[in-house]
Amino acid sequence: MQRQPTEHWNPTIETMPRNALRDLQSERLIRQVHHVYNNSAFFREFYDAAGVKPSDIKSIDDITKLPIMSKDDLRRFRGSHGDPFCGTLCVPVGALKKVHKSTGTSGAPNVFGLSEADWDQSAENFARMLYRVGVRAGYRTNNWLEAAMTWHGYSMTAWGARKIGATVFALEFDNRSVVQTNLELLAGADLSAIFIYHPEIEVQYLRQHGLVPTEIHPNLSFIYSAFLCTDARRKILEDAWGVPYWNMGASGDQYIPASECHLSAPALHYPEDQFVVETVDSKTLLPVAPGAEGELVLTNLWAEATPFLRYRMEDVVAVNDAPCGCGSTHARVNYRGRYAWSVAVGERRIFSDDVENILWAHPKTEFSAYQLIKEHAQPQDRLHVRSTVRGEAEYGLSELLTDQLERELGVPVTIEFVEPETIAVGTVKFVRVTTRD
Ligand SMILES: [Zn+2]
Repeated sequence: MQRQPTEHWNPTIETMPRNALRDLQSERLIRQVHHVYNNSAFFREFYDAAGVKPSDIKSIDDITKLPIMSKDDLRRFRGSHGDPFCGTLCVPVGALKKVHKSTGTSGAPNVFGLSEADWDQSAENFARMLYRVGVRAGYRTNNWLEAAMTWHGYSMTAWGARKIGATVFALEFDNRSVVQTNLELLAGADLSAIFIYHPEIEVQYLRQHGLVPTEIHPNLSFIYSAFLCTDARRKILEDAWGVPYWNMGASGDQYIPASECHLSAPALHYPEDQFVVETVDSKTLLPVAPGAEGELVLTNLWAEATPFLRYRMEDVVAVNDAPCGCGSTHARVNYRGRYAWSVAVGERRIFSDDVENILWAHPKTEFSAYQLIKEHAQPQDRLHVRSTVRGEAEYGLSELLTDQLERELGVPVTIEFVEPETIAVGTVKFVRVTTRD
């Protein structure tokens, strides 16, 4: 589908030479390390235990001297100190303009927040992110986060859109009513871009009700959201909505403002003046070779209230820091998937997205709930996949899918068709990887 050329919200920063960017990172990292050490109980304890002092950090090259923190470190601190901010709050509680929490996908949610200055900076960062995907002054768009999930850090995206000069309709009563709210209630509102959330529910609703988004909103130019997006998923979305889909960053804690440009897709540009982007080996926590796949580790260079430094994101990515054709000199981060949603088969690591991309390209398994079975002993010899199927599984479907999975993933595969109840959680989520002995 035709994509719009990329322009930059802040061209000076987004196209600055990388050596100048490194200098800016050095300056901000030094300031940030002093700030967290002097003001956060968590970081003081964490760095003291590792034997690191702020004066050890003299430039961005010293960042590897800082220990890497994980969600477990935060939970441990919370458990021993009873602080919902996990000791990371660096300003008085009274200085917080807004408090947010994470979704808690992998355990108890973190609580964090924004000072007045952080609020302004995150709106600016989200303006850059949204401008890159195509939001412009005068646009009309929705924001289900601000409407139905204001506790989520990503609800600040509404302020990014307003900063650009767009009008934000935040009217969804829950995050499953994006289509009803924006195509039915707001028919006639001439929306320019729609922020979607549950692709499966939304596409199903469009089809069942015969809705044509571009007839309802003739100036609709794209849809956008923030989830890991396989090629198969993107194709289904673009066919159903009739406009391009643009993807953005996918984590609310730390207010991560990453998004695709028309050339980087599916990789996301990260603003490296605001975050240091690193990739490490998940076991050793040592940096991987430049460009190699590893776990994403981020350092927040801008927030004063609850910045996390060298924070494990639990996503496996590859980072490309060569300048992009769009003019941006900031890294492009290509997401492979969540480490927790992968299994090792022989020499290869297979992510749930790899499997989804193949299953969802078939009409009978489009949007199927699926699951990878992880054996207790890793690596395993074979990839086991469970999938739901639309209607009756036709003769030969199992063989066809097995053959295609084996060919594209390069490992032996067993596929089993199951009832949705077997792997579903609630009505839309499913457990992507389950472990068995
Ligand atoms: Zn680009």
